[in-house]
Amino acid sequence: MPRIALLEEAVINKIAAGEVVERPSLVVKELVENAIDAGADIITIEIKDGGFQLIRVTDNGYGIEAEEVRNAFLRHATSKIRYAEDLQTVESLGFRGEALSSIAAVSQTEVITKTKEKLMGVRYVIEGGREQRMEAIGCPEGTTFLVRNLFFNTPARRKFMKTPQTEAGYIGDMIQYLALSHENICFKYIHNGQLKLQTSGNGNRKEAIYSIFGRDIAGNLCLVEEVQAIKDGFLHITGFCGKPVITRGNRNLEIYFVNGRYIKNNVITEAIEDAYRPYMMTRKYPFTALYLELPLYLVDINVHPSKLEAQFGNREVIYQLVEHAISHALSKKELIPEVFVEKKHSLEVFQEQKLIEEKQDIGILSEKDSFSDRSFFDGVPFIKEESETVALKPYQEELFEMPFLCKEAKKQHKIIGQLFSTYWLIEFHDKLFILDQHAAHEKVLYERNLAAFYKKEKLYSQLLIVPVIVSLSMTEQQILKENLSFLQKFGFEIEPFGGNEYAIHAVPADMMDLADQELFLEFLQALIKGQKTPEFILEKMAMISCKGAVKGKKELKKEEVIALLDELLTLKQPYHCPHGRPTIISISKYEIEKKFKRIV
Ligand code: ADP
Ligand code: MG
Repeated sequence: MPRIALLEEAVINKIAAGEVVERPSLVVKELVENAIDAGADIITIEIKDGGFQLIRVTDNGYGIEAEEVRNAFLRHATSKIRYAEDLQTVESLGFRGEALSSIAAVSQTEVITKTKEKLMGVRYVIEGGREQRMEAIGCPEGTTFLVRNLFFNTPARRKFMKTPQTEAGYIGDMIQYLALSHENICFKYIHNGQLKLQTSGNGNRKEAIYSIFGRDIAGNLCLVEEVQAIKDGFLHITGFCGKPVITRGNRNLEIYFVNGRYIKNNVITEAIEDAYRPYMMTRKYPFTALYLELPLYLVDINVHPSKLEAQFGNREVIYQLVEHAISHALSKKELIPEVFVEKKHSLEVFQEQKLIEEKQDIGILSEKDSFSDRSFFDGVPFIKEESETVALKPYQEELFEMPFLCKEAKKQHKIIGQLFSTYWLIEFHDKLFILDQHAAHEKVLYERNLAAFYKKEKLYSQLLIVPVIVSLSMTEQQILKENLSFLQKFGFEIEPFGGNEYAIHAVPADMMDLADQELFLEFLQALIKGQKTPEFILEKMAMISCKGAVKGKKELKKEEVIALLDELLTLKQPYHCPHGRPTIISISKYEIEKKFKRIV
């Protein structure tokens, strides 16, 4: 066990100064990280009143020697680094030696700790930074921190805090991240006497995700795994990313860890969102739990007081790694959402199960009956067979299933026909696939247009029989002059028509039914705002493809649909239109039979 020593002045000055315990969630973070650094594999966190009243963190780590306890509370006392050079290679979560002193300064803190070698432990009480008591005490190996009445002596700071509920939410998030990045540690989090989170610590990441986020997310994950060699080391990314059916209206579930640390970083966020762009509607965000292992010299975590941000030595390399790994993971899966005729909310299922058990208890429901009642259990459905024996529905192994969109499968497609002049019903193996003709065609056009655009070809344009004349302001004329070739790439042909007027001779193909100059003026407006970004191009391309695609409520011939499917097969990401809506969904034969009560 390393000794605790005061850092030298020179080292202290190198450490980013800052307040580490600004709010209860950061106190929890520091205490739990200390427990992790102490090698604990069971950590219990108990909070009262959003952490303002009490934070208790108990671990079974290696403890603190009795004679070292006082030192631990001195500013810049740490056992984790010694010299400035160590900052370059630090692998522990803590290293600044300022958490305990800062926490003790603004609360009533108590620590009870014992190392393996000692028979007795020690209890140390320190309030507002002043030692109150130090005594021997019998206790198990490990350390318990109790932090009471946080900010009791800094009422001004307490006033700026959010409500206890909000703080409890931050604490919950913080513990989620710590638990996700330490799948070998069993975490237990209790708030106001209620168990909020518990992980098994059995080393299985997917199971940790299940314990924290539940089945909806854990059941819809793609495996991410990639290694990249660079000049002097390796970049490693592993973990999971959610299928695009899992979306949120904010970035809270875009979770990633760099060398075991939960951080926020623009480069990684951008790479994640770019990889998901073809699959997701705008302003929708995915679930990820990514674990990046990078050479230490590439990462600087000493830029933020709570180490919640990091800077990278080589942003481009990190971006490529993340973007590529996720794109790869998503494109490996056939992402056709399966729809269920009937899906019960888990609470409903739980309540019904309770009811069945209660009925059984009082003898009004036989064991046999209960199975048919349970047939709705989504995930473990029971099938009642002729002989009244009960069998589990065989789970479809995604890996061995032939994808719907591949050349081999296409020979076996049985096209049944068109529904509501918009959808196509196709039978394949034991599923009914439903194709949205508009969304599918839109995706085909989009990929075609994008490919042409990036190959520096011009998009197909369509000559107008009668040119459309538009009058432009001075700014618009200037922007037009500067961006003429850019607009030509999209398929516009424009010429001066005298004075302030310009003639539009051609527009992007299939845009004829778009009201005259509308699209052109929209382009100009966006260019004036300086939006010549890749997002702008993608968005406009999506719009052009959408307008150009065959509409719903239009009779199509079977041959046209076959041709459409042929094109879909060639796309890298055929399952979503550029706006993120699915192009195909499926319903299993099993679901249909259940609905007809052939299976109960
Ligand atoms: P840092 O973690 O940056 O070293 P802290 O102020 O958080 O600084 O902790 C100071 C020292 O106290 C640590 O370096 C460690 O030696 C000791 N310590 C704190 N918490 C624990 C714990 N739960 N178990 C064992 N040692 C601990
Ligand atoms: Mg620490």
